[in-house]
Amino acid sequence: MSNRDYDLFVIGAGSGGVRAARMAAAFGARVVVAEDRYMGGTCVNVGCVPKKLYVYASAFSHDCEDARGFGWDSQVPGFDWSTLRDNKKQEISRLNATYRDLLSGVDADIIDGRATIIDTHTVAVNGQQYSTDKLLISTGGWPRRDTTPGAELGVTSNEIFDLEEFPRRIVVVGGGYIAVEFAGIFNGLGSQVTQLYRGPLFLRGFDQDIREHAAREIAQSGVDLRFNVVVDSIEQTSSGLLCQLSDGNSIEADQVLYAIGREAHLEGLGLENVEVALNNNGTIKVDTEFCTSEPSIYAVGDVIGRMELTPVALAEGMAFARKQFGPKDMPVGYDFIPSAVFCQPNIGTVGFTEEAAREEFGDITLYKSTFRPMKYTLSGRNEKTFMKLIVDTASDRVVGVHMMGPDAGEIIQGIAIAMKAGATKAIFDDTIGIHPTAAEEFVTMREPWTAS
Ligand SMILES: Cc1cc2nc3c(=O)[nH]c(=O)nc-3n(C[C@H](O)[C@H](O)[C@H](O)COP(=O)(O)OP(=O)(O)OC[C@H]3O[C@@H](n4cnc5c(N)ncnc54)[C@H](O)[C@@H]3O)c2cc1C
Repeated sequence: MSNRDYDLFVIGAGSGGVRAARMAAAFGARVVVAEDRYMGGTCVNVGCVPKKLYVYASAFSHDCEDARGFGWDSQVPGFDWSTLRDNKKQEISRLNATYRDLLSGVDADIIDGRATIIDTHTVAVNGQQYSTDKLLISTGGWPRRDTTPGAELGVTSNEIFDLEEFPRRIVVVGGGYIAVEFAGIFNGLGSQVTQLYRGPLFLRGFDQDIREHAAREIAQSGVDLRFNVVVDSIEQTSSGLLCQLSDGNSIEADQVLYAIGREAHLEGLGLENVEVALNNNGTIKVDTEFCTSEPSIYAVGDVIGRMELTPVALAEGMAFARKQFGPKDMPVGYDFIPSAVFCQPNIGTVGFTEEAAREEFGDITLYKSTFRPMKYTLSGRNEKTFMKLIVDTASDRVVGVHMMGPDAGEIIQGIAIAMKAGATKAIFDDTIGIHPTAAEEFVTMREPWTAS
């Protein structure tokens, strides 16, 4: 044991930091965690958790409409934003306390305050300095701000959950999964939603078929989706926020949400006091063991910008703690990481996109299916599910699975296990389906897709 105050000083009590701290402390390390905003970090406070709660809230309007076809005399009832917001706050407070308990339960110290690195073994919080053998930066990401005149009148994902007033009209700027999810949330809650994206098609990085299917479904669900357009300026008027667009149009809204990407959260961290190298995109550069260019300083999670997802931050935090303090090394496997977009309907995806698979494997075989979910045959909803399998022709291995349809996130999680295990198309074919489900389509697609 060293004569420093701690074996490990963790900066940031988000997904990665808390997991690393808990595991290191459980392995016997003397651990402290500094957190300056909220226990649990982005995911718990302004990310996955409140987002999913709001997605659930937004789905009730669809459910009420669908119920009529099944004989229910249902009207879409009124929606009260303050009930949703305040119930969400209560649940998040419960989770904040749970995270605090998880750390105290393994005897990790907690300091509420912003941490600044003083040197490679010293951190200052609230005017006090602490020495440590190892330092872990897990400060996460922060929403990018736009420089458009008047952009400061808008909000980001940090503020949107706690708006005082429900926005009857909202402009969502951005084309990533966060922008798409919020457009769906407010659409479902009853706002008039306009989503603007600067490029020709949103959801960059997703499979092209999924992107196109999503654009059709989302536009059909009522979101006014506009591509190749940006906001040039925003002005406060007596009746709202007036957005002047690059295509010459203007839109008035009650709220403008900027969801135009996230950056590594490094402000005030004191990186100028050490030699921690950054990647070109401003994230922290680490090696395979999450060590930065300073041998005593490590980093995990969104701040290293590998895959900005909670389960990835958790896995990195665990791998770091095991490697540095545990009995056995267990590196993170970055291949076949599944993910979901909680829009209406959901997108679930794992593995290669068609474009990436073609580049990686050359000869690929595609299987595609588009169908109307059984539930909508009676409700009359005009929504289609889309599924796609991508197979490496030479090995028969399934290398990409993509879906847009109800519960796609839940379905793809199971498929990801098969893919991690190296499942071939022959194994998919040999698997008996569960009937009647949408998921059974994944094991019954027999005819390769050919361009007509
Ligand atoms: C709107 C939204 C929706 C999302 N939805 C999903 C989803 O559905 N699924 C999914 O997997 N991921 C989702 N994510 C991403 C997920 O939230 C992040 O990948 C995850 O939180 C990253 O964890 P982290 O530990 O790297 O950082 P964070 O969770 O961001 O934690 C970093 C913590 O460090 C603290 N901190 C920063 N600087 C300092 C300092 N100097 N001193 C002390 N404390 C500091 C911050 O206050 C914060 O609490 C979403 C993100 C957003 C914004």
